[in-house]
Amino acid sequence: MSTEALKQLFAKSGLKFTNQRYLVYRAMAEAKDHPSAETVWRRVRVEAPAISLDTVYRTLASFEARGLVTRVPGGGEEGRFDGDVTPHHHLVCLCCGSIEDFTMSGAGLDDLPESVAAWGQPRDAQVLVRGVCRKCLCKMEPVKPESEKRRT
Ligand SMILES: [Zn+2]
Ligand SMILES: [Zn+2]
Repeated sequence: MSTEALKQLFAKSGLKFTNQRYLVYRAMAEAKDHPSAETVWRRVRVEAPAISLDTVYRTLASFEARGLVTRVPGGGEEGRFDGDVTPHHHLVCLCCGSIEDFTMSGAGLDDLPESVAAWGQPRDAQVLVRGVCRKCLCKMEPVKPESEKRRT
């Protein structure tokens, strides 16, 4: 996205264009790994050494409030952010904390059961798959039967 387009996007969202906001937004637009605020901070600091973690956190929160980034549900306590605001779903590894995207049909708002419509007005729907990723599975020792386990 060009600087000019970003200025317009910020203006539409009621945000003043600042270099720090620009850098945080760009870091999020480029990130594919659903970074935490701290990870974004480390990346932005390369170009803006004076930026504080608190500023990055507040910037992400104001982006989130305006729908410019989203927070990944189930992304752990530190909070993980997504620069891709188009509808998609997430695979969360409970072992290494990696978060990957996936898309599937049949998981949109139109596919929800009637009980959801009865509940109220849904805005978006996401599937969250939590488990252990292949990389982590490979590192794990095969599960041994109870009798073979060493006593500690
Ligand atoms: Zn993993
Ligand atoms: Zn995502």
